[in-house]
Amino acid sequence: MKGRITDIPLKCTNGNQFNNRQCLARILKILRMEDQRKPLATKNGEGNSRLPMFGSKLRPPSTVKRPRSPEEKQDNKRRCLDYSERTVETRARKSSETSKVTSKTGSSLTRQRSETSLNRSTVSNTSLRSSNSGSSLRANNVRPKANTAVVKPTAKAASSTSTRPPPARGAQGTVRLATSKTSTSNKPPAGNGGGGGKKRPAWDLKGRLEDMEAKLEKQTNNREGLVNQMETQNQRIVSLESMNQQLSGTVSIKENIVSQASEEITDLKRKLRQEEDKRDEVQRGLQREISDMTFLKETLSRQNESLQSDLNARRVEVDGLKASVAQLTSAQAGMGAELENTKLRLEQAVTSNKTKDTEIEKLRNLLENRDREIEEQNCQIRSHETERRKLHNQIQELKGNIRVFCRVRPLLGDETLGNDGMISHMNFPDQEQRIIELDKTGDATLNESCLTKKGGNNAQSKYEFGFDKVFSDHTSQQQVFEEISQLVQSALDGYNVCIFAYGQTGSGKTYTMEGTSVNDVDNRGMIPRAVLQIFDSTRELESKGWKYALDASFLEIYNETIHDLLGDEDLKHDIKMSGQKNSNEVFVTNLTIVPVTKEEMVYQLLQKASKNRSVGETKCNERSSRSHSVFTLKLTGENSITGETSQGTLNLVDLAGSERLKESGSEGQRMKETLAINKSLSNLGNVIMAIGNKDNHIPYRNSKLTYLLQNSLGGNSKTLMFVNVSPKEECFQETLNSLRFATKVNQCNIGTAQQKR
Ligand code: ADP
Ligand code: MG
Repeated sequence: MKGRITDIPLKCTNGNQFNNRQCLARILKILRMEDQRKPLATKNGEGNSRLPMFGSKLRPPSTVKRPRSPEEKQDNKRRCLDYSERTVETRARKSSETSKVTSKTGSSLTRQRSETSLNRSTVSNTSLRSSNSGSSLRANNVRPKANTAVVKPTAKAASSTSTRPPPARGAQGTVRLATSKTSTSNKPPAGNGGGGGKKRPAWDLKGRLEDMEAKLEKQTNNREGLVNQMETQNQRIVSLESMNQQLSGTVSIKENIVSQASEEITDLKRKLRQEEDKRDEVQRGLQREISDMTFLKETLSRQNESLQSDLNARRVEVDGLKASVAQLTSAQAGMGAELENTKLRLEQAVTSNKTKDTEIEKLRNLLENRDREIEEQNCQIRSHETERRKLHNQIQELKGNIRVFCRVRPLLGDETLGNDGMISHMNFPDQEQRIIELDKTGDATLNESCLTKKGGNNAQSKYEFGFDKVFSDHTSQQQVFEEISQLVQSALDGYNVCIFAYGQTGSGKTYTMEGTSVNDVDNRGMIPRAVLQIFDSTRELESKGWKYALDASFLEIYNETIHDLLGDEDLKHDIKMSGQKNSNEVFVTNLTIVPVTKEEMVYQLLQKASKNRSVGETKCNERSSRSHSVFTLKLTGENSITGETSQGTLNLVDLAGSERLKESGSEGQRMKETLAINKSLSNLGNVIMAIGNKDNHIPYRNSKLTYLLQNSLGGNSKTLMFVNVSPKEECFQETLNSLRFATKVNQCNIGTAQQKR
């Protein structure tokens, strides 16, 4: 009968249906109760099991004692003795059988005993009756009421068969009675008649026989009690064994049930654990979901708050926009009106525009006409430029191709002491600034070289010299340059121009040609001013199609030797003539020629030359130039419109000091320098005079200076000589010599200059 306990329907008499767990609990409870009662049952069972089996033949104990005859009593005694012997034999046999069974069954005995005890307890407490098939248990069998009902008949049966002593107390009482009787019988008779403990004398045989008879009777009675008791126990054993058999089946069923229940419990526990695991997992999932939802809730809450604030802001904005819309609506109305107005104005403008287009067209035509006129005028200007150059040159020729300007430097420093800066022996009498007068008192040594001599033979002598221009000591660099700028323009026009500065040391030659410093704008000399004018003019001439290339060189002639003032090396330089036909252009070998594109470059060249220039000391002046310096700027122009070209040269020459040897006090090397200077200067005068006299031979080669400048001293050249004089009275004689030399030069007529084309 295998099946799940859940398959067994359990129903209470009152209609309550037990579920499996409840039923199982009840079964376990019953089992526990049986376990508690087991010791008694086992004790009783064991005790009883050792009792002899009487079966149904045993005579039930009689509750009513009938009188017996002495024969019967003897017979009974004999029977009891026989019975006792049989009982002993039976007990021994059973014991041996039991031991055999025990040895055969082994461990099953223990189990059987426990089953037996279980069955006994079950029988005594329940009326769980399994049917022969034992397939089901009735729920009403486990009811307490039913138990009582079942137990009662058993008790009745026991009492009816007299196999079971009435209550345990009664049985015990009986045993105690028997025991007391036994103990009593072991004692000597208490006296006569069984009541006293007095020992009869040996001779009292009768008394002793009576005692023995009484004792025998007592023992007989005891035996009967014991036999009755034994019969009762045997009956009980029989009933218990039948119950045992019944309960064995019940126990197996219950074991099955219990095993099923155990499996079921295990299964249920496993399922329970699984369910608990699932539940835990679901719980964790739910916990996570709860936390997620909490987080989501907080996020949504924050979003809600921000959205709420956003909404509020938007509401404010909408309100503002509404107000704006209202304003715009009103403005739109105004704009509409304005638009209408504008449309009208636009139409008017379109109309006027058409008129203006017509005017513009007229103006465009006019402009084109003007452009043509301008172009024509430009052509005229260019032709005028050519014409201007011719006329300019004619003017220069009329002025003379060799001109002499006299310049007197002011008194400086200590030279002004005692005279308030006034030069007492010089006069500039005419407005045209062409005459200089020298007035010397008490000096009869002056000779006929003076142009004018006033005052007869007395000590008062006056000398008057006339030049193309006489610049007094108050004349600025700018005023001087204005007079020579026309010559610079001639160089741009393609003529060779040569400007000399002649005079004794300290008379202001270098100041006139270079100035004090290129950074000192007011005192800039003729060279930087000429360069500046050339760059300005080339920029202006670019609009007329002219483009110029300027090449600068700076050399020094010292002791008839050429030095390159712009070179970094001390090379040998020679003056040579170009080998090309129809060209007698002079050039210097190994000379540094620097193309210049802006004024600043020329200033840098002047500074470099100033450092390289040989400067010596003399007694006449703190700083005395002992060499000639020649700054040459070649101007090569080309007109891309007219195709004209021009090539001019501007030579700016700072001559060495012209003081006489005897006055300089030089000796040795310095003497040699002075002689070389005097020779070259006198040769310069001779060349100029030879040109003026139209001599066949012009002694250019007599000095390096004239040889170098031969193209700028005759023919197509224009020459300007500054004669610089010192305002100092002690330099009167040197001043007179310089003015005489300049007068000779000024009297020369070099002839018509030829423009280089
Ligand atoms: P040179 O070159 O003839 O020997 P400098 O040109 O060196 O003479 O002039 C001598 C000094 O006189 C210099 O200190 C110079 O500055 C100064 N000097 C020359 N001419 C003038 C002038 N016109 N105005 C002011 N100072 C001058
Ligand atoms: Mg000088």
